[in-house]
Amino acid sequence: MDAPETILSVEKIEVTYHRVVTAVQGVSMTVKRGQIVALLGNNGAGKTTTLRAISGFVGMDDAQVSEGSISYKGQRTENRQPHEVTRLGVVLVPERSKVFENLTVAENILAAVPGKKSKSQAAVAYEYFPQLVRLREREAGYLSGGERQMLAIASALVCAPELLLVDELSLGLAPRVVADLIERLQLIRGELGLTIVLVEQNATVALELADYGYVMENGRIVLDGTADRLRSHDDIREFYLGHVQGERRNYRDVKQYRRSRRWYG
Ligand code: ATP
Repeated sequence: MDAPETILSVEKIEVTYHRVVTAVQGVSMTVKRGQIVALLGNNGAGKTTTLRAISGFVGMDDAQVSEGSISYKGQRTENRQPHEVTRLGVVLVPERSKVFENLTVAENILAAVPGKKSKSQAAVAYEYFPQLVRLREREAGYLSGGERQMLAIASALVCAPELLLVDELSLGLAPRVVADLIERLQLIRGELGLTIVLVEQNATVALELADYGYVMENGRIVLDGTADRLRSHDDIREFYLGHVQGERRNYRDVKQYRRSRRWYG
């Protein structure tokens, strides 16, 4: 069997805000067709910036990919307009402003892609999120966090993505809701053959869903590997448990601490 093709290749990108603030440096990632890839890390690590660079939305934040390249299915996409990248099949579910709050659920879904194809695509969205059917006439501003996340992913599906980028799937949601979303994304990946890149602060959630993960800290990738490998990696376990001798540490501190234990302990 042929190895799955590389659908996304991020090569040593640097992202700069307002032409002066470097938020991401030397970040490289490879995503194969059909994979679920997680980007992990604490607040401010650069996960959202990386995802917005891939989707083209950094331009709207007065930022740019100032070095390196991003290729989607062999086409260079860094610093292209978000609508161009979306049209190529790369669709972002953003962390904030996920839905149009003053529009109903049905209007949100149709707004994702106005035009002839939107009705048949909307049917796909309702098929995967049947809870949204009874909420069709409700204004999105009145939805719960979980319903909002479903609507955001459903609206992204209307755009017929090949590569779905999800920024913070689980943030602020109850474990039961997160478990349901994980199941739904697995189904969507299996049945629609989507490739998914997921940004998560919650490593447990991310590594349950993902095949492969990258860990970011201070704008750089500090570790990557299969989800199995990351789950059993001692540094990651300590890092994400977050407490070593009662003190919260970052990944580098944990590494240093482990090294010193190897030497002296
Ligand atoms: P979080 O989970 O908190 O969103 P993150 O890993 O997604 O964290 P980013 O939001 O990508 O991290 O932020 C990375 C760095 O870029 C941070 O230092 C942040 O302050 C900076 N940054 C983000 N957005 C902007 C902006 N619009 N202008 C200037 N700096 C920014």
